[in-house]
Amino acid sequence: MDSLRTSPNPETSGTPNQVIIDLSTIRHNLNEIRRLAGNARIMAVVKSDAYGHGMVQAAKTLEAAGADHLAVFETGEAIELRDAGCKLPILILMGMQPEATEYSGNKRELEQFEAVVAKKLTPVMYNQEMARRLSDYALSRGAMVPVHIKVDTGMTRLGIPWEQAPSIIKRLSLLKGICIEGMLSHFAVADIPEHPFASQQLERFCNVLQAARQSGLNPRFIHMANSGGILAGLGVNLGMVRPGILLYGSPPGPAWCPATTSFRPAMTFRSKIIQVQTVPKGTAVSYGCTYRTSNQAVIATIPAGYDNGYSRMLSNSGEVLIRGRRVPVIGRICMTLTMLDVTSLDNVSAGEEVILLGRQGEEYISAEEIASKANTINYEVYCKIGKSNPKVYVDMELADLSLS
Ligand SMILES: *Cc1c(COP(=O)(O)O)cnc(C)c1O
Repeated sequence: MDSLRTSPNPETSGTPNQVIIDLSTIRHNLNEIRRLAGNARIMAVVKSDAYGHGMVQAAKTLEAAGADHLAVFETGEAIELRDAGCKLPILILMGMQPEATEYSGNKRELEQFEAVVAKKLTPVMYNQEMARRLSDYALSRGAMVPVHIKVDTGMTRLGIPWEQAPSIIKRLSLLKGICIEGMLSHFAVADIPEHPFASQQLERFCNVLQAARQSGLNPRFIHMANSGGILAGLGVNLGMVRPGILLYGSPPGPAWCPATTSFRPAMTFRSKIIQVQTVPKGTAVSYGCTYRTSNQAVIATIPAGYDNGYSRMLSNSGEVLIRGRRVPVIGRICMTLTMLDVTSLDNVSAGEEVILLGRQGEEYISAEEIASKANTINYEVYCKIGKSNPKVYVDMELADLSLS
């Protein structure tokens, strides 16, 4: 199956840009999460191409390293994982895509139901009508589909509102073609430690759980803790946790940085210089002439810009690494080109490596640093850079693979 999300092919791409993913760090981060989460099972979130790190490679690494479940956003991703040989249970966070049945004849919905049964996938459920139709379908195939019920405890995004959840869950439990194997909710405030709303949400979820148990339900998998919940120790004792960003080595918010120093970022984004020029004082650089050299300067150009996920917000403010030293981005970042002031380095030449994200020598440019300059979050930095460049995978633990 062709995926629309496929990033440029490293074999055929004519650019020197590479997103390098060290799979051994993902393994390390899984073990760090296990240390924090005690006995809890780990449902590894690999949606959105594993936050730009490559869904199939990340999932296979996590599966081999002992993750218990995988979570993706939609059915297509789950099918791709199964077809790639992943054996773990896969939760579909979006659930089944609802269909305006009168008009479209139910075709998409049926395809999803078929895939769920044939590939043994686990959809999230929050819609009674959908649950009834899935149950009917499963019964017609002599199957029983495991589902996880999503309770909205205050995120106001997806799920059965917590006040209505006990009665609706009771009705869902009567459907013969589905089995309520799990229940989940999601924290709205994961970036701020000790925010009171998190414990309030957890309390609401626990009340729903209690009501479900009183009506005779006993789902095996209860989960609420995302990366923020895991770090805060909130919802960890429910038996399963659902980390995303921590697996890729980053904190769920700047305030968590001190608590996540033992995690290792998996992504490096590198490019190479394609031109170097020496220009006189007063020379304008890039669109809009927003930068002018204050002295004679040496300027290097790299073939990476905002189309490569390197935000235009970093114009005149970003820094990159060459020979382990920081150099500034000057002028506006273009679609596929960015200029650097390399005057501080001796004899820079075309072909030299430039690190836009990641480590080089003793220096490090983090997704958090880029996010703060680009007025966004590390999650978006990873997604955009990961999806816009050819990816290569290394495993620094298993093999001493050269990066050159
Ligand atoms: C993305 C996502 C997660 C993971 O969140 P992180 O903050 O990356 O740990 C967990 N649960 C749900 C429902 C999500 O959508």
